[in-house]
Amino acid sequence: MLNLLDYNYEELNNLVMSYKEPKYRTNQLYSALQNYKNAEEISNLPKNFVANLKEKYSFCPLTIIKKQTGKDGTLKFLYKLNDGNIIEGVLMSYKYGNTICVSTQVGCRMGCKFCASTLNGLVRNLTSGEILAQVLCVNKELGGTYQDRKITNIVLMGSGEPLDNYDNVVKFIKMVSCDKGINISQRNISLSTCGLVEKIDQLKDENLQITLTISLHAPNDDIRKQTMPIANKYKIKDIIDATKRYFNKTKRRIVFEYALIENVNDSFECADELCTLLKGLSCHVNLIPLNDVKERSLRGTTRKRAYAFMDRLLSNNISATVRRTMGEDIDGACGQLRAKYLNNNI
Ligand code: SAH
Repeated sequence: MLNLLDYNYEELNNLVMSYKEPKYRTNQLYSALQNYKNAEEISNLPKNFVANLKEKYSFCPLTIIKKQTGKDGTLKFLYKLNDGNIIEGVLMSYKYGNTICVSTQVGCRMGCKFCASTLNGLVRNLTSGEILAQVLCVNKELGGTYQDRKITNIVLMGSGEPLDNYDNVVKFIKMVSCDKGINISQRNISLSTCGLVEKIDQLKDENLQITLTISLHAPNDDIRKQTMPIANKYKIKDIIDATKRYFNKTKRRIVFEYALIENVNDSFECADELCTLLKGLSCHVNLIPLNDVKERSLRGTTRKRAYAFMDRLLSNNISATVRRTMGEDIDGACGQLRAKYLNNNI
């Protein structure tokens, strides 16, 4: 069944027109959807119009089936989609606002060894409306509306590879930043990718102001191949060249994610090699001690070592921070909660 949240404003307007309703109904319907109202909660539209829509379209593509609160205030959500599939999301509170981490696919086919999202492969892509619903649903859960939003930032870092679901993800970014809707600034949106080179080039021409984040996790192809199968397809050099083209077009600083894995990529030699690789680029490195994934035998570096690694980058004039590992106690790493749920452990 088609979902109304998959329609952007213009498409929704065409739909409303096809029902021979007056134009102002578009705004009424659009604002109700942006507030994540289901058909029964909508009171500002004629009952028979809503009933007609309900015959052909669903209103809310997902529901929260579980909410966990971590010690650091991080919230973790399990959502059920209308076809029964399960996805997850995280909400992190910072001084400057609330950041939601959204999923873009059910599962993932990239196969990174440290990532729980990929344990059972890709089930399916999420639609643009299903990605948007994660933001709108949590905003409502926090007591927000689309005008008085409780979510300020979005990271596309939940399960899935965003650029492997390109059209839906780009449509989502345009919808969530639409000034008639929840209107989250594109500058507050980060898209994280393992580095699909052709798609990065395509993305640079979309005229978006989002931050491109590359999951690098290694300073050279040999080490990257140990944990990321995608490294067999794309060389680090080609990814870096694509980020340079992206920067030249968008002028947006590139962020590199580097999960520190004990005895794999956390030596000082690795830090030095990383410095050489990134020299001259307008970029920032996010260091994250790996969240241990029980199913895999990879372990995170100690925080002490992570800071030593960071200092090595800083002394070479590479901007770097060690990220707070948030939500670790509630399976905050991608796919961990869903994996547990699917294994009937919660
Ligand atoms: N597929 C995209 C986005 C999803 S993952 C990508 O590869 O970027 C979001 C980030 O979390 C990625 O940088 C990913 O490599 C990282 N990640 C996955 N599992 C992790 C773990 N166990 N510990 C720390 N980071 C992890």
